[in-house]
Amino acid sequence: MINKENYCSVVEKTSFKKATLVAVSKTKPNEDILLLYNEGQRIFGENRVKEMVEKNTVLPKDIQWHMIGSLQRKKVKLIAPFVSLIHSVDSFNLLSEINKQAAKNNRTINCLLQFHIAQEYTKSGLSLLEAIQILNSDDFQTMDNISIVGVMGMATFTSNMIQVRNEFKQLKNYFDELKNNYFNDNDSFNVVSMGMSGDFDIALEEGSTMVRVGSLLFGSRTK
Ligand SMILES: *Cc1c(COP(=O)(O)O)cnc(C)c1O
Repeated sequence: MINKENYCSVVEKTSFKKATLVAVSKTKPNEDILLLYNEGQRIFGENRVKEMVEKNTVLPKDIQWHMIGSLQRKKVKLIAPFVSLIHSVDSFNLLSEINKQAAKNNRTINCLLQFHIAQEYTKSGLSLLEAIQILNSDDFQTMDNISIVGVMGMATFTSNMIQVRNEFKQLKNYFDELKNNYFNDNDSFNVVSMGMSGDFDIALEEGSTMVRVGSLLFGSRTK
């Protein structure tokens, strides 16, 4: 089942801000994905490699698959032939493996640097310093098969919306800092991926250009 009313509302809010909607379809069946596909949705997000590969095999070829979950290096090769954007780059070694597998497939893979903005220590992501170390490294300059197109972050799971807003502000500051210092003349560095079902309105107010919304569209995953 999908919630068409919520879908229309999210589409309206994101397109008003010229932001991109990633429909997070993890754990959801292909029938549900096709229902949203038939509404015009083409970008879907998954957080497990196996599930994304299986869905890509059987679903329409013009779907753009975004990897939003933490990604093991040894599994990059499975999605490298088709993945459209990887949101969860949180180490140099992962980026290096993505570059290698992209080269094998004769393509460039778009990536976001994932930042740790939440209070919970369990949420992964880079610090600004770690990101800068990657961007300054000699090895990074030779990675011809990846393109860093922006940043991603997840806010703390809390009902304190002031805290959530501050974390989004921080991610936007990281984006601006990297844009000014490393990507000033690079128009493709333009993605701020932040905002989920519970906080995408705030994220859009704080400069999100890409929201990742799941349960609001597809219903809760805990049932
Ligand atoms: C599951 C997930 C989402 C979507 O969460 P909802 O609350 O269902 O909208 C967004 N981003 C990431 C990284 C996720 O793992």
